[in-house]
Amino acid sequence: VHLIERPKAMPTVDQFQIVETHVPDAADGEVLVQNLYMSVDPAMRPRLTAGQDLGVAMMGGALGRVVQSKNSDYAVGDLVSNRLGFREYFTSDGKGLTKLTPDPDLSLTTHMHALGMTGFTAYGGILHIGALKEGEQVFVSTAGGAVGSIAAQIAKIKNCYVVGSTGSAEKAAWLKDEVGLDAVINYKDAPIRGQLEAATPKGIDVYFDNVGGDHLEAALRRMNTLGRIPVCGFISGYNSGHSSVSNLSNIIYSRVMLRGFVGTDFMHMYGDFQRDMAGWLKSGQVKYQETVLDGIENAPAALIGLLNGLNAGKMLVKLAD
Ligand code: NAP
Repeated sequence: VHLIERPKAMPTVDQFQIVETHVPDAADGEVLVQNLYMSVDPAMRPRLTAGQDLGVAMMGGALGRVVQSKNSDYAVGDLVSNRLGFREYFTSDGKGLTKLTPDPDLSLTTHMHALGMTGFTAYGGILHIGALKEGEQVFVSTAGGAVGSIAAQIAKIKNCYVVGSTGSAEKAAWLKDEVGLDAVINYKDAPIRGQLEAATPKGIDVYFDNVGGDHLEAALRRMNTLGRIPVCGFISGYNSGHSSVSNLSNIIYSRVMLRGFVGTDFMHMYGDFQRDMAGWLKSGQVKYQETVLDGIENAPAALIGLLNGLNAGKMLVKLAD
């Protein structure tokens, strides 16, 4: 999948092109990898404005299988995570590939979200950056999405009062009925500010921010003294390039900590995360949803759909069994 024109607002499918090309066999020291699933992530949108070159296969997370190997570190059949998504096949000297040993009791795709970097971002973001304590008051935005749904459920496991926001009635119903959040806000029903005020009678100790803009502004009005705001994403601004708040000064008298982070900030927690998350998934304490589109030709639509909220949980494109 090539990007052929940079979007100025919401991307459109005609700004992408599906290109057929010849992929050579693996040369000495190389492997030939067939991608099975591609990860579709909001962070791809800012790269369409700057960072992603035009006219070349797009970068992105993927899970593939080695189909030819002339590299002694890899055998045919090995599963490898890679950043060379949005293409069906590629050759590699092995650098940048990570071998994956799937958990036999969980679906393969969980390694691309709840049990992968998505889940780890939620885990470290809320427990380490957010310094979550048992029984606190928590707000999570995009709670029906891949990162948000995991962050919200970790807070429930820690016996917190958890409010989630989403823009879809179906996702709101899943969060209330299946996940058991204490309150769910559909920000498309009414302005987030009034809804959040009503849903947080004891204020907010930790706001896990995936949205920025109006959601962050509404949360800043409700933060308790010494509250924490781990800033994971700013999706309300990814298409426009800006997403401002007018009340940032609220952090002063309430002594609120606001900190951006990326998943690699807390790699020391990765072992604990894998143990905890695998256990929670197997016990059913953490639930997940996936939206899987079939075929590389649907990759542009998957990315645009993600930005429009089409996905429930993790957005993936399936390329092969
Ligand atoms: P996701 O939540 O599964 O999908 C994106 C969701 O964002 C959409 O489904 C939509 O859900 C919501 N959305 C779109 N535009 C919105 C707007 N203007 N206001 C409010 N919600 C909007 O995606 P994800 O992969 O889990 O990522 C969630 C956030 O985490 C993103 O901001 C992403 O950039 C960030 N992230 C950060 C890191 C890191 O290391 N810091 C790593 C991964 C992801 P609704 O239907 O609910 O509107």
